[in-house]
Amino acid sequence: MTEKIFFSFDDKLLVLAEKAEQQVQPSFLQIDRVTEYNQQKVLSAFIRHGVSESHFAATTGYGYGDRGRDKLEEVFADVFETEDALVRHSILCGTHAIAIALFGVLKPGDVLLAATGRPYDTLHAVIGIKEKTPGSLTEMGVGYTEVPLTDFGTPDLPAITQVLQTQPAIKMVHIQRSKGYAVRPSLSVAAIEEIVQAVRAVRSDVVIFVDDCYGEFVERYEPTAIGVDLMAGSLIKNAGGGIAENGGYICGKKIWIERCAYRMTTPGLGREVGASLGHNRSLFMGLFYAPHAVGEALKTAAFAAALFEKMGFTAAPRPLEQRADIIQTLYLNSPDALIAFCEGLQSGSPIDAFVVPEPWDMPGYDNQVIMAAGTFTMGASIELSADAPLREPYAVFMQGGLQYHAAKIGVLSAAQRLLTKGIIHL
Ligand SMILES: *Cc1c(COP(=O)(O)O)cnc(C)c1O
Repeated sequence: MTEKIFFSFDDKLLVLAEKAEQQVQPSFLQIDRVTEYNQQKVLSAFIRHGVSESHFAATTGYGYGDRGRDKLEEVFADVFETEDALVRHSILCGTHAIAIALFGVLKPGDVLLAATGRPYDTLHAVIGIKEKTPGSLTEMGVGYTEVPLTDFGTPDLPAITQVLQTQPAIKMVHIQRSKGYAVRPSLSVAAIEEIVQAVRAVRSDVVIFVDDCYGEFVERYEPTAIGVDLMAGSLIKNAGGGIAENGGYICGKKIWIERCAYRMTTPGLGREVGASLGHNRSLFMGLFYAPHAVGEALKTAAFAAALFEKMGFTAAPRPLEQRADIIQTLYLNSPDALIAFCEGLQSGSPIDAFVVPEPWDMPGYDNQVIMAAGTFTMGASIELSADAPLREPYAVFMQGGLQYHAAKIGVLSAAQRLLTKGIIHL
């Protein structure tokens, strides 16, 4: 029997892909080591907390006494090395989780300091950065101040220290681990630790918050293991392992988690309400799969970086660079190339491969954005997906990949589309 060819790619592209895969083998080995460590961390927590099939039972209505939901939150807190956690399908997305954390802590008269520059696009309206958007923090009387990153895209520690010393009303410090759609390096846990130390040196009382979207399980330790008070993220990114159908989490110190619970539901009711409606099994299973899914996504990113460098583009991070999140930025130099990349990636996805993505005005974003997402869960970016705001420097942000072998086809399909459309020649 001869093997079948299921996908046809340009021969020259396949030669580059082979070289790219060879090049990133050292990265793959390193990624496997971190995956193994984190998988042991998660498995041992499941065992320690006695997770059992009975925890998958669904509750309805108020959801009082939902043992599975409470157990899941215990396990999460253990894995993230925090006192407590809220993990709910009723936290609708990452933005919602972050908003609960901010509104849970801040009161009128307090000031929020964004210590790593302008936060992720969807948070502009939550905070009310440019104007007092309805329902925002600034409309409610919370102040906002930000310290931009340095010209190198790194945290400006002296400026952070100075702002903290001159503005005693600062109550909370926001740190964003992942670059999001910004052109800057993502922060390693070590870099976050430097910020934490700089903040603590002048103000021991402020609440240090990390937006950990895209960062979970990329390193051996989470920011909460090195002194961060509160952290939040999405379950359709890393922490849901590609299994969670929606949801978000907040973890951290008990006193702040309690306040967040009152914001998540209502004062008084807090965390006691919230029927799990049958989601417990997929949230447990998602956490179980998360270290592995993140490893596969990291391998996909490293491969894409190596391949596109060999095709003449610039990649950040570079193929063998240490990664701090699952996002791979590829600078494709033109809007046409961004569109071709997303079309190609979509065509190599398991779901909706026949759909041709187009740029659109996405709610919460300032520019037109084109997205490729042929995913089992709508918008899940732990699955192979790509987003590109149609603005200079024409960078596509690619992330995810539940399995390297399938995601590799998606990346090759994106590269092939650039060739087919005549945007590049090999
Ligand atoms: C995705 C993301 C968010 C928002 O999460 P959603 O689930 O899209 O609401 C916030 N911050 C960062 C850094 C992100 O990557």
